[in-house]
Amino acid sequence: MTDKRDYYEVLGVARDATAPDLKSAYRKLAIKYHPDKNPGDREAEEKFKEASEAYEVLNDDHKRQIYDQFGHRGLENSGHSGPSGFEDIFSSFGDIFEDFFGFGSSNRSRTRVQRGSDLRYDLKIDFMEAAFGTEKTITIPKLDTCSECHGSGCQEGTFPETCAQCQGTGQFIQSQGFFKVKTSCPYCRGQGKTIPNPCPKCRGAGRVEITKKVQVKIPAGVDNGSRLRLNGEGEASPTEGGVPGDLYVVLNVKPHQFFQRDETDVICAVDISFTQAALGDDIKIPTLASETMLKIPKGTQYGDVFRLKGEGIASLRNGRRGDQIIKVIIKTPIKLSQKQEDLLKEFDKLDSNKISNKLKNLFKNL
Ligand SMILES: [Zn+2]
Ligand SMILES: [Zn+2]
Repeated sequence: MTDKRDYYEVLGVARDATAPDLKSAYRKLAIKYHPDKNPGDREAEEKFKEASEAYEVLNDDHKRQIYDQFGHRGLENSGHSGPSGFEDIFSSFGDIFEDFFGFGSSNRSRTRVQRGSDLRYDLKIDFMEAAFGTEKTITIPKLDTCSECHGSGCQEGTFPETCAQCQGTGQFIQSQGFFKVKTSCPYCRGQGKTIPNPCPKCRGAGRVEITKKVQVKIPAGVDNGSRLRLNGEGEASPTEGGVPGDLYVVLNVKPHQFFQRDETDVICAVDISFTQAALGDDIKIPTLASETMLKIPKGTQYGDVFRLKGEGIASLRNGRRGDQIIKVIIKTPIKLSQKQEDLLKEFDKLDSNKISNKLKNLFKNL
């Protein structure tokens, strides 16, 4: 806990900042990093928590005094280690969020509503499926809203009761020395209510383990590591009426034996003989969609690259297709018949471009 940033630095205010200064600084950060505006963004979530914690401390005269005098350690020793999660943040800032966003979780009248957890599923697909898009059905185990009680956790015809231990506030005030510390009520786990007659199917949890088949539409152009978000296909909220989390499908694209990928371009290598390279030829080569004829011009060199416009992979952003890039590999014959060898020797005598001749000339000029 000692590597925490300074609270004044977090909010970007001076050490003598007034309450309105703090509020306006926090307001700016909270709007910027609010999880509803940055779904799935871990960094924003951390920033949001950090700002909320800083504001909670500095806006409380008593905690601020401890912090100014003893720093983070002072708060830890007095039990004020800051909110532990979103629900805590929302409950301590109910009023602020009401006037920031027009909603809130003021626990005077409402119990807290939590979002369900996000889920991750790793899906392996073929190279061609990634190139052209596909549809897959996946089966995921998850916690879903109980069909019996519709998430309330109560047996039919019965209702939850206000928690007698915390009078429905969900919070417990404990005294530690002369500090008063708020903690989540252990009897109702902060929910503010208890269930006297639990639903027999979910035993009061409001959620049950299920396996669900989900249809995943994979767009053309996805790549290894691409992440698809399926809204609301994550786990059900642990509280009645809360929104479910999202399902993230992370794609793993199997390599192809002929094509390699470079963003939206596909690269392949084709072998040609040295006579094809010297004399030129038309050769048939596979493309992603089918096949095409490629003209090898006379005098093609080892490593020459040919480009087929628009035969690559569609861009996820604008749908524009990349190119197919063909690298030519010239193969030297290994087995020659006597006649081939004789012809080549004949050819050699006539070849004025022989490398050894060039080298001789080079030495002559030195
Ligand atoms: Zn149930
Ligand atoms: Zn309680």
